[in-house]
Amino acid sequence: MEMQVAPAPQEKFLEYRNGDLFFGTPGRKVAEVVGEYRQPIYVYDLNFIGERFRRMQTALKGAELYYAMKANPNRDILAHLRRQGARADVVSRGEIRAALQAGFSPRDLVYSGVGKTIAELEEAVGLGLHQINVESLPELERIAEVAGRLGKKASVALRLNPNIDIKTHPYIATGLHENKFGIELELLPRMEEVLRKNTAALELVGISLHLGSMMLEFDGFRQALRLLRPVYEGLRARFPTVARFDIGGGLGIIYDRVAVDEEHESLERYARIVREELAGLPGQIQTEPGRWIVAHGGLLIAQVQYIKQTSHKTFVIVDSGMNHLVRPAFYGSHHAILPVRLFAGRAEGSYDVVGPICESSDFFAKNRALPETRAGELLAIADCGAYAASMASTYNLQDLPREICIGG
Ligand SMILES: *Cc1c(COP(=O)(O)O)cnc(C)c1O
Repeated sequence: MEMQVAPAPQEKFLEYRNGDLFFGTPGRKVAEVVGEYRQPIYVYDLNFIGERFRRMQTALKGAELYYAMKANPNRDILAHLRRQGARADVVSRGEIRAALQAGFSPRDLVYSGVGKTIAELEEAVGLGLHQINVESLPELERIAEVAGRLGKKASVALRLNPNIDIKTHPYIATGLHENKFGIELELLPRMEEVLRKNTAALELVGISLHLGSMMLEFDGFRQALRLLRPVYEGLRARFPTVARFDIGGGLGIIYDRVAVDEEHESLERYARIVREELAGLPGQIQTEPGRWIVAHGGLLIAQVQYIKQTSHKTFVIVDSGMNHLVRPAFYGSHHAILPVRLFAGRAEGSYDVVGPICESSDFFAKNRALPETRAGELLAIADCGAYAASMASTYNLQDLPREICIGG
């Protein structure tokens, strides 16, 4: 990996004032938010997260936003987004329950995921969720069976796989035939057969798609909308209850530099494509954003334990690692690393910032330019609002971080 330049955040929500890192809107001194440090901490700014949500809601005027809570299911974040008008996209019984506890109603929930169990579907159908996004023929048959048995009618949308490449990391692409997600268009006649056979148990309410995560260019997205619009219209002609076009989530953010203005432009481009391709569409547009709403709204605070010099490298060993932020290990992702306090007169060096876990993939950064740090000092890992806490594990029986919310 090449040498990375030390981050110089200029955005108001993450900036240095007299050598102290401030985070949030309005900015709070991170050292004060953390207080007496005992263990790694995620810090979330509800104001920033709420502002991102409202911006997306404005850009996608008329669409319903179902926050993909797998990005971050923190209860205060869920409750805050709900108060801003968010609904929620859930992918498990655990997420259904967490959403209800945060104040969402079953009618606010879209249920996605390829592996829904009978017990999960019994709960979802029993609660009468807004919509279940169906991922396969056997799943549709299972929902029909469960709903029939419970004497309920389930609202289902078909998640279609358009076989379109969005140029993202292969592990987060989901709209290709080689992926496990969605239903191939060729299978639609057989899906329709099951729907027609089970009109008492199943109501087809629409279609959904989700091409993957970290979309930063939208040719594939436009192509998918163009391909699926006539499919939607055809289904609607045969099933008059079809009235929802769910465009999924996946809008990307910029991790390797601070460029919020660019992200706002990218949101506008994305929204324009939706407007252009779905203009005059009869029915409701729904979307399932996760990362774009919450990623920048969180920090992970860790403490330097050792500076370990070897003949090859200098390691900064901290008390948090892939157990609390697995993205670098999973996808080779970049996260900015910022000392909570900058000290005058410290030289800059090149460091591998690593955790305590017994795996060589346990790193936050390699060959990263950072000011010299010392044992006991705190580092902030940026952009940990999405897919950090929600993917955390207790591997090595390390504790999970505390979570602190500011703002809101
Ligand atoms: C993960 C996921 C999302 C959210 O993706 P982001 O990249 O966080 O916006 C939306 N819909 C479905 C079905 C997902 O699996």
